Amino acid sequence: MPIKTQNKARYPENWKQISEDIRFNRANNRCEVCGVPNYAWVNSKTRELCLSGEDGAIRIILTVAHLDHQPENCDYLNLMAMCQKCHNNYDRQHRNRTIKSGKLIGQTEIQF
Ligand SMILES: [Zn+2]
Repeated sequence: MPIKTQNKARYPENWKQISEDIRFNRANNRCEVCGVPNYAWVNSKTRELCLSGEDGAIRIILTVAHLDHQPENCDYLNLMAMCQKCHNNYDRQHRNRTIKSGKLIGQTEIQF
């Protein structure tokens, strides 16, 4: 995932080096969740390998996810190389939990 401008200051100065070490060395250039190779072309619906230019072809670009969603925490146990789909799925679960907890707070406020 591209780093949002407002979050750039939360990453360490050597983030690029850390990110490359996770993606290229530890993960051996593959998504650590689904195993798809970095830079491969896959069909966006079936996720099967395909050729560039085929209908629905997307290119896999590995990113590094913070498992606790805190960019300051660059402990290697907190980092995982993920393809776009796995990173989006992981972040979506976090967003949904955040929204649910926000609703719970709202309900509590209504009860007062
Ligand atoms: Zn993946």
